[in-house]
Amino acid sequence: MDKEIEKLISKETDRQNRGIELIASENYASKEVRDACGSILTNKYAEGYPGRRYYGGCEVVDEIESIAIARANELFGSKFANVQPHSGSQANAAAYRALMPEGGKVLSLVLNDGGHLTHGSPVSFSSHLYTFVHYHLDTNGRLDYENIRRAALEEKPNLILAGYSAYPYEIDFKKIKEIADEAGCLFMVDMAHIAGLVAAGVHNSPVGVADVVTSTTHKTLRGPRGGLILTNNEELAKKINSAIFPYYQGGPLEHVIAGKAICFKEALSDDFKEYALKVKENTKACADELEKLGVKSSGTENHLFLMNVLDSFGINGKEAQAKLEEIDITTNKNMIPGDTLPPSKTSGIRIGFAASTTRGCSKDNAIEIAHIIYDYLKGNSSKEESLAKVHSLTSSWKKIEEI
Ligand SMILES: *Cc1c(COP(=O)(O)O)cnc(C)c1O
Repeated sequence: MDKEIEKLISKETDRQNRGIELIASENYASKEVRDACGSILTNKYAEGYPGRRYYGGCEVVDEIESIAIARANELFGSKFANVQPHSGSQANAAAYRALMPEGGKVLSLVLNDGGHLTHGSPVSFSSHLYTFVHYHLDTNGRLDYENIRRAALEEKPNLILAGYSAYPYEIDFKKIKEIADEAGCLFMVDMAHIAGLVAAGVHNSPVGVADVVTSTTHKTLRGPRGGLILTNNEELAKKINSAIFPYYQGGPLEHVIAGKAICFKEALSDDFKEYALKVKENTKACADELEKLGVKSSGTENHLFLMNVLDSFGINGKEAQAKLEEIDITTNKNMIPGDTLPPSKTSGIRIGFAASTTRGCSKDNAIEIAHIIYDYLKGNSSKEESLAKVHSLTSSWKKIEEI
């Protein structure tokens, strides 16, 4: 019927298969997850929650959503889960509403240091509904817990927020919880990026430490595009539920919730634990190799690192991103600690291995990728040579339709 869209989907399938995906927030969902998301469940209206819906005919989707909730709680060790947020941003909006009154004060990481738009950006709802004050990373780009403590005691926020989009090191959630207790405020963690590592037990968990934990399900967790909210506090759980529906959202996406349920089951498996370990190993192997070649990088303790392309190659992040795109390697420009260039240019790019590891990227492949990037950005290797190397790697990996 619609050849125009069909052609474009097949063009995008080809793009995803041909290239090396190094965007740290991306991943490839399994066929089972994708099938659920493309299923007839999209036909069903189910405003409300299992057992308390506004429409009839919800007995089957009630079961699906209840399974998704139970699996999320099993996976993360939480007592209450809301699996309805359409995205990580919606999850954050609902969590803020449950945790503080409008106008409440949030202490979060300054955006240029790796925070997310919903953590107080002037272009996001967050800064309009709440008052944001910020803490900073130290000159090495690491969290400075003493700086967070001083800011919390001085600013007396309602809420301290941790969890970031471009932070390459492990976060000590317990330490920040102690600070929140000392300052008499609540603590929220947005684990959107590291949820898969937390699920696999290769990053310490914020669940049971923070009052509320929000997440996406499509980044390292490798599920369908969507959001998730966890808490152990029943009062907060009730407030979160009414903040999602009816305050911010209408009918839940039960097809995506089915995809989330499958994703949680997959993440409970030993295979997933192995996968998350490999993601960390591959990321470290690539960062270490680039450093050996003389490139300035942040190093890594998780699934991503930042590379200073301005100092290493004399080009800005925007230019590096465009150059790598020429050889079918997808990355994104990113501010680095103490960046002197604006966010539209940046001095760095962000590199992550969650997606390529899903396709079967090995440690040796990750090291080879470091060389492909280095040689092309240095001008040692032509576009044709580099493209041939990229395509030889990706053609040896799993096809994305088969994941
Ligand atoms: C990706 C991300 C989000 C938002 O997720 P969307 O689903 O794109 O709305 C929120 N917080 C952090 C830290 C993120 O990295």
